[in-house]
Amino acid sequence: MTLQSFGVIGLAVMGENIALNVERNGFPIAVYNRSREKTDAFMAQRATGRNVKAAFTLEEFVALLERPRKILVMVQAGKPVDAVIAQLKPLLEEGDIIIDGGNSWFEDTERRTQELEPAGLRYLGMGVSGGEEGALNGPSLMPGGTTSSYEFLSPIFNKIAAQVDDGPCVTYIGPGGSGHYVKMVHNGIEYGDMQLIAEAYDLLKNVAGLNPSQLHDVFAEWNTTDELDSFLIEITKNIFPYIDPETKKPLVDLIVDAAGQKGTGRWTVQTALELGVAIPTITAAVNARIISSIKDERVAASKVLTGPSGKYDGQTKDFINKVRDALYCSKICSYAQGMALLSTASKTYNWNLDLGEMARIWKGGCIIRARFLNKIKKAFSENPALPNLLLAPEFKQTILDRQTAWREVIATAATVGIPVPAFSASLDYFDSYRRDRLPQNLTQAQRDYFGAHTYLRLDKPGSFHTEWVPIA
Ligand code: NAP
Repeated sequence: MTLQSFGVIGLAVMGENIALNVERNGFPIAVYNRSREKTDAFMAQRATGRNVKAAFTLEEFVALLERPRKILVMVQAGKPVDAVIAQLKPLLEEGDIIIDGGNSWFEDTERRTQELEPAGLRYLGMGVSGGEEGALNGPSLMPGGTTSSYEFLSPIFNKIAAQVDDGPCVTYIGPGGSGHYVKMVHNGIEYGDMQLIAEAYDLLKNVAGLNPSQLHDVFAEWNTTDELDSFLIEITKNIFPYIDPETKKPLVDLIVDAAGQKGTGRWTVQTALELGVAIPTITAAVNARIISSIKDERVAASKVLTGPSGKYDGQTKDFINKVRDALYCSKICSYAQGMALLSTASKTYNWNLDLGEMARIWKGGCIIRARFLNKIKKAFSENPALPNLLLAPEFKQTILDRQTAWREVIATAATVGIPVPAFSASLDYFDSYRRDRLPQNLTQAQRDYFGAHTYLRLDKPGSFHTEWVPIA
């Protein structure tokens, strides 16, 4: 029997599409799914005429694969991954490789690596971004694990990944859970991007008064620019003119304003807090989804909590351009935060992440793909030790040139009562980062006052405590 060169476990959206991608690129595949119906449907509807063999038990599946076996697990993150590994492990032999391609928590990946590698198996934790379409036609891949496992698999990864001008959207991320960590931060940045776009939409619709067709035109124009050309702006442009066939109204206006989340944004915020890295834009994006989800409470509150209302009294065209500038400045701050988080995680866990490469592999295939990532790649290539993206010459100049517009947009939003939490968090990040003196001298005095926590002084070395007394 001819053996298959690659195996995929899990035939939900991601698994079936990535399996077809691998096969299309010349690697015969074997597939397995816990419930038989998915496998039957996949074989009948999508695998005809292709070099795919289906298995209905893991024993059969393993027997279909050439050694060392290369097995991609694409199942729900968490306990299902442990369940699959527990069943698979006794069936595998030394040198076989398991790749977890789901959105696993990076510490789970570290734990699984430590369980499997001493037993002679190889384990890669690989972030996969791009959703259904990316999985089929070329995702961005973020594999973490040993370099030898990565190198062994790179001929396959290089072919199935999205291809951009400077190569396939895959690179060796680092050891252990680093691949899943980078994917998690990618998703956190995605939350930030989506919230910033939502705020721009709110301002253009409710302050500038643009209709769906005008919103389409603005986003279409933004999508031609070096700064904003991206997958998320493109799909946003396409959403506005979509008419609901039933009601003949723009579908976007009929969608309930309560955003869901699966957890990678929240994880990004949690790990940032643990590592002591400020990511206020991404945190604001997660909070915005949380507040959006208490829809009934908000509807009730809207009847009693009044606020200002009003339209922008300047030129619409001028306001649109200012919103574009505010969006771009905020986006730079959001990426600065995501990259700062990756930089600290890299130092903390000894991952030696190449931040320029992270920007490069996000240029294609994934949800945050954007022309702007070229600028981030360039910034880190020119200075790999860059402490913060805001200090890269091009980004610094952009913000200096556009900050007046950015501030005006946030001031206008506050005046008319439109929340712009991610725009504001980004500006606060910029203003906090750029100031040599913040008011936390007072915080230190208070901490010393009530808790004898001591403070440092500007004018002399040492640690000080004062017996603070009320002065009339
Ligand atoms: P999913 O809905 O997250 O998971 C469904 C798959 O998991 C099914 O194949 C299911 O098998 C299997 N499964 C669940 N519990 C299991 C268990 N205890 N043992 C064995 N198999 C089990 O699928 P998905 O959306 O394709 O995502 C797969 C992974 O990729 C997830 O980690 C997800 O977070 C990540 N991801 C998803 C996307 C996306 O756009 N959907 C994008 C990037 C990454 P049954 O059919 O038997 O129930």
